Amino acid sequence: MNAITKIGTFNDADLFRQQALIGGVWREADTKGVAEVTNPASLTVLGTVPDMGGDETRAAIGAAAEAFRSWKKKTHAERGGLLERWHGLIRRHEQDLALLLTLEQGKPLAEALAEIRYGASFVKWFAEEARRIGGSTIPSPTADRRILVLKEAVGVCAVITPWNFPNAMITRKVAPALAAGCTVVIKPSEFTPFSALALGVLAERAGIPAGVINIVTGMPAEIGKELMANETVRKISFTGSTRVGALLMKGAADGIKRLSLELGGNAPFIVFDDADLDLAVEGAVNSKFRNGGQTCVCANRILVQAGIYEAFAAKLASQVAGMKVGPGTEEGVVIGPMINGAAIEKIERHLADALEKGARIIAQSDSLPEGRQYARPILLGDATTEMLLASEETFGPVAPLFRFETEEEAIAIANGTPFGLAAYFYTENLKRSWRVAEALEFGMVGLNTGLISTEVAPFGGVKQSGLGREGSQLGIEEYLEVKTLHVGGL
Ligand code: NAD
Repeated sequence: MNAITKIGTFNDADLFRQQALIGGVWREADTKGVAEVTNPASLTVLGTVPDMGGDETRAAIGAAAEAFRSWKKKTHAERGGLLERWHGLIRRHEQDLALLLTLEQGKPLAEALAEIRYGASFVKWFAEEARRIGGSTIPSPTADRRILVLKEAVGVCAVITPWNFPNAMITRKVAPALAAGCTVVIKPSEFTPFSALALGVLAERAGIPAGVINIVTGMPAEIGKELMANETVRKISFTGSTRVGALLMKGAADGIKRLSLELGGNAPFIVFDDADLDLAVEGAVNSKFRNGGQTCVCANRILVQAGIYEAFAAKLASQVAGMKVGPGTEEGVVIGPMINGAAIEKIERHLADALEKGARIIAQSDSLPEGRQYARPILLGDATTEMLLASEETFGPVAPLFRFETEEEAIAIANGTPFGLAAYFYTENLKRSWRVAEALEFGMVGLNTGLISTEVAPFGGVKQSGLGREGSQLGIEEYLEVKTLHVGGL
């Protein structure tokens, strides 16, 4: 079946692959079983991918181990050059990649295109960083010795990614891994495998050797089990929920594998009385409603100081009321479908719980197409910390406003969660800026901005939001081991 290409708008239909990639071979599952992938906007089947398990994962790990032997020996310039070519091809095919992403994930086409460019930026960045992997020398305690610190590739890495950014979460891990000299086995989300497979097609065209990038599709638990147990895998880089992150951490313990974990968030978005109101409203819209509210750095709790509460609510209300909901391919749509039925149920559960506990609807969009997988953008007032939406990621277009009186109270509410990924706050007061930035227990803080994702800055969380950092010059360190060389008898 080649359902997706019937749409007929791809410039290069070959980017739509329904096979997995192992050792340079595009192939089926051993059992020939397949898993369907659904378009969340129409609930129609887009296509299928091989339903693979442990055996195919072992084969992919073997292929990555074989490729590692020569890949790690390439010069940094060679690896960087191949990444540059991959970047060029991603940008050249960005329209097709964006359409594919929207069809399987749902986000509006403009956001999908922004994600492809964001994803590509990591490939470019780490193509450049490859040349800057350095070491150091350390003054020796004795005259007849020299001490050198060398950086070496970690080895075969498992890359497990979520559905909410099906392109960028892959490039953010794979580009630094490859730049460092590692090879990878990617397990994309079962909801959005086609974006990953298209990246595989382009990597192959770029000349990245067989086995350097392997992509296994299918059963998460079976594939995950092999990735955790197999001794050849030296590192697991995961983006997804805290629940699965903890499971992987336990599974990786016996083999003492390295881990990078980018997990869930519960971002506070604090608006102080002295904020620039328009800037704060713009930031809240960007941060809360991007990807329909399905991002790990989404403003989940909007805390507004009493003196500015009504004015802020009124301005945000007019924006929320005007949001168009619909298929991501439709002109003017800003909120696409949610990823699956479970996402809709969670949003409805949070909403019902909040209304029962005293929240009120300030504004809502009246644009809601037929179908189970759309959620209405809603602005809620009078939210409190007892509500479910205060303690869990809602992952949908529901924006709850919490009223607070003092700075101390806002910081206590903001930090009162086991998560620590992103936080935002708005103030025009310089002293408060420093105080609050330093008091927030989060890996990333946006001061007077709702935009914090870029390839040049470290991305990652503290507490139960994860371990390690992606992007920036730190991102490549996650894929490098330190070897100390002591040279004696000189
Ligand atoms: P998820 O944890 O359900 O799935 C993530 C990936 O793990 C998928 O590929 C899934 O198939 C796989 N998986 C599930 N069970 C597994 C198992 N037993 N073994 C191995 N792999 C397994 O998360 P999701 O629903 O796809 O994504 C949403 C979550 O991701 C949210 O919590 C969000 O906050 C988080 N997220 C975090 C970041 C970040 O950078 N911190 C970025 C995006 C998303």
